Amino acid sequence: MNRIFLLGIILSVTGCATHDPRPFSGVDPALISYVRYWEDRADWNGGGVRAGYGFGITKGTSIGYCHYRSSYGKTYWWVTIKKSWWDTAEESTRLSLVGHEFGHCELSRGHKDSDSEFSDGCPDSLMRASVVSSRCFDAHEDYYVDELFGRL
Ligand SMILES: [Zn+2]
Repeated sequence: MNRIFLLGIILSVTGCATHDPRPFSGVDPALISYVRYWEDRADWNGGGVRAGYGFGITKGTSIGYCHYRSSYGKTYWWVTIKKSWWDTAEESTRLSLVGHEFGHCELSRGHKDSDSEFSDGCPDSLMRASVVSSRCFDAHEDYYVDELFGRL
């Protein structure tokens, strides 16, 4: 009798389990150091990051994309990055793209399409629709980190 009851509980728990709609979970090994860079800086704000996201490299058409999907009342998110772009991008440009997608997926930020920029022509936010170059990221790294997390 107890065994049947226990089996019933197990079935009901698994029957209500959410279906993870992501094509992958976790972080692709090639992206770990870049994701960790942003996680570390997010922690400075005392907020940390949401658990359970995914970063993966695909053959997609966009160089980076933040995906959302809700399933059984829970929202899942994951980022895909285009492999051919990633393979040829400079380190700082990779960081700026991962930060940008982190902004969409982790911080729920949209694009910031203003005309404001630095005197050297660099944009005033990683959340511009186009990826911030390595030259600009290197020149204004601390600013971009603080701007992304709303610490300005
Ligand atoms: Zn974007």
